[in-house]
Amino acid sequence: MDIKTNMAIKNPLQYFLEKLHHELLQIKDGVVASYIPELSHANPEWFGIAIATVDGHVYQVGDTRQSFTIQSISKVLTYGLSLEHNGIDAVRSKIDVEPSGETFNSISLEPNSGRPLNPMINAGAIATTGMVHGNSHSMRLQVILDTFERYTGHPVTVDEAVYLSEKTTGHRNRGIACLLQDFGILEDNVDDTLDLYFRQCSISVSCRDLAVTAACLANNGVNPVTGVVALDKRHVDKVLSVMGSCGMYDYSGNWLYNVGMPAKSGVGGGIMAVLPGQLGIGVFSPPLDEHGNSCRGIKACERISKEFGLHLYDTVRSTSASVLRVEYDTTQIRSRKQRPEHEEEIIINNGSCIGVYELQGELKFSSTESVISDLLEKVSTRKYIILDFRRTVEIDRSSQLLLVELIKAVKDSHMIFFTGLNAHYAFKRFLTKNKALKDIDTILKFQDTDHAIEWCEDRLLEAEGVAVNDDKLIDLDQHDLCAGLSSSELSLLQEQVTEVQFNSGDIVFRYGDPGDSMYFITKGAFEVILHLDSKHERRLTTLSAGTTFGELALLNQNRRAAEVRAQKDSLCLQLKFDKLGPIITTRLVANLANKLAKKLEWDAVEIMKLS
Ligand code: GLU
Repeated sequence: MDIKTNMAIKNPLQYFLEKLHHELLQIKDGVVASYIPELSHANPEWFGIAIATVDGHVYQVGDTRQSFTIQSISKVLTYGLSLEHNGIDAVRSKIDVEPSGETFNSISLEPNSGRPLNPMINAGAIATTGMVHGNSHSMRLQVILDTFERYTGHPVTVDEAVYLSEKTTGHRNRGIACLLQDFGILEDNVDDTLDLYFRQCSISVSCRDLAVTAACLANNGVNPVTGVVALDKRHVDKVLSVMGSCGMYDYSGNWLYNVGMPAKSGVGGGIMAVLPGQLGIGVFSPPLDEHGNSCRGIKACERISKEFGLHLYDTVRSTSASVLRVEYDTTQIRSRKQRPEHEEEIIINNGSCIGVYELQGELKFSSTESVISDLLEKVSTRKYIILDFRRTVEIDRSSQLLLVELIKAVKDSHMIFFTGLNAHYAFKRFLTKNKALKDIDTILKFQDTDHAIEWCEDRLLEAEGVAVNDDKLIDLDQHDLCAGLSSSELSLLQEQVTEVQFNSGDIVFRYGDPGDSMYFITKGAFEVILHLDSKHERRLTTLSAGTTFGELALLNQNRRAAEVRAQKDSLCLQLKFDKLGPIITTRLVANLANKLAKKLEWDAVEIMKLS
């Protein structure tokens, strides 16, 4: 096969957009808006499509850098700003959220209160702009420009020609504003608010800007390209809701049915659509249909939604299978602590009482519920439950609440630990602040699962009558490696070893040191450490009294493959290989082979479990 390197490979999404653009360019339906005279100068051939993902990747084709006025799409951004300035209740008291099913410039006010039906029609949008805070007209304009900049990622300006054109012809909007003032909905000077509204509608944007703006809303309010917060997370769902029900004028119901994404269009020819959690779409093509929506824009969004199955109600079933990476107990996988064989056997035989659940990805209501019900099915066989969150990227509010309820349900009968929560500050705070969880410090005591398992194993051994006490002195003959040695051989060995004392933190040997001896631990514990780089190390295993280390060199005299460090004040019997006679060497090597064979068996079970 002839493999060519250095060949540019086109991203499949880019390829799709280029094909779609080419195809939809043939559509010649619709007319360019002219009721604002300056808009009629737009070229009907202009056509751009852009998609921005929540990871900040932007795909674009056609006239995506051509500037045009944002028009009604601005209503979305100003509504979010108004919510931030005034709070939801104050805004709701003046502007409702009911779809009007009427045209954008309909008067649609509640008969008695004069409250506009929603913020996406002009009446509601003018009222929304009236609620933007600022000490002066120019400061309020600056606040709006700054807000738009957070969404687009660059400074924006008002297209003066379009603004003046709308200002001199916007009689209907003036009429609406006067009515709003009469009802007390507009408290400010009508002319100032209208001026601000006309300017906000005349802000220049590009199709790419719309995609990035939509992606901010898809990304919980954070601009995925710049990382700047465009809108407070608390208000994102509110803004998306009005877009979903009222964003496409009197075509909103059809739009939701066909495309299934909250969206907003403007008479300048732009449409932006949001697929929450995933992406934003911006389309620009000036010719509009009878509802005031871009003809090609509608078609482009319909096609993108249909071909990729992006309709909001076309969802993926979310179960434990998506977030439960692996479930095991200590009959299958044990801690990295190496213990004498008889202790290991007790743990293996009784290990089903320690259950470990390694979670991954995004925990949402249904997946978390599913994990919890799986876990509860086996709860009667468990005494210890460890939930490992290290590989989770998100734990949503509903999952947090469910997990708190899980703790409450099991904490009187079981020990439960949550590990790997280092990156989940909000969840940790939520847990520690919960007054009903008095034992939370214990539940969060272990950062990593390995140490939590080790602690549970210790308790299991204690329950089985084995005191886990590294400070007890272990005789040489109690070491697994000395099994089968006759008493004379043992006393010979005894003569050849030298007792060495280590203080906590002392290094016994480092990676690369000569392998000239081995150590029988008689008291305390040692850690085997691998240095990943100058700053990071990983514990491979912990060795307790009754186990040995450095014995691999008995086979090959190779240099040390890791570092060994005393975990606490400890004692060892060091055996130098140069003193060792052939009989004892043979015995030790046979026992070592036995130990390695067992370890291989256990490792195979572990690998199977994790693969
Ligand atoms: N500035 C326009 C107006 O108020 C916005 C209309 C629109 O884009 O729907 O008429």
